[in-house]
Amino acid sequence: MPDLRAEIIRVAQAAVSCGLMPGVSGNVSCRADKDGTPGFYITPSGMAYERLMPDDIPWVSIAGEWDAEGPRPSSEWRLHRDLYARPDAGAVLHAHSPYATALACLNRAIPPFHYMIARFGGDTIRCAPYAPFGTQALSEHAMTALQNRSACLLANHGMVVYAPNPAAALALGQELETLCQHYALACQIGEPALLGAEEMADALLRFKDYATGKG
Ligand code: 13P
Ligand code: ZN
Repeated sequence: MPDLRAEIIRVAQAAVSCGLMPGVSGNVSCRADKDGTPGFYITPSGMAYERLMPDDIPWVSIAGEWDAEGPRPSSEWRLHRDLYARPDAGAVLHAHSPYATALACLNRAIPPFHYMIARFGGDTIRCAPYAPFGTQALSEHAMTALQNRSACLLANHGMVVYAPNPAAALALGQELETLCQHYALACQIGEPALLGAEEMADALLRFKDYATGKG
């Protein structure tokens, strides 16, 4: 069985190198039961990712407990924990990536300007209302914005995505950041033409087939 802590470190470092996680912002987690207790591994709070070792990665139970002697888990552990209530969540990535964060500062959903919006489960990427970092309120706003979605923006903060495993969460985070870049660029040039409800319904169907390898 691969060391899930090493995989979290690999993904966190890759997210830093590709510009998704400037400074010590953002965090990554992966569902992992320990001795039959449900929980997850998550990046530690406020530590630079380039020097992380597996023992620096804390384990947090779904009840919100961790080893008080060990490294402190990310301040956003509630956001990660609440996502693991979804059976399809195997990994969570939260980032302050430049384009997603710039758009999150507008406090608006990203409309269906591109068919790739459907990749995230609907015809918009919602923006969860602002709440202070690390709070249960932030997590609750995010859970609402993530209904039928695998990603959302967090107002005046950043973005969050979830996927079946850490590598897929990184790939999805990169796709969201690219989409946000495209939207920001299009808005600089003019007013983006939006796809209609039928076109987005069609894109959603195509992604269902695409995801199951049938398309
Ligand atoms: P942590 O270093 O505690 O993970 O916090 C970073 C962050 O992005 C808070 O929202
Ligand atoms: Zn953050």
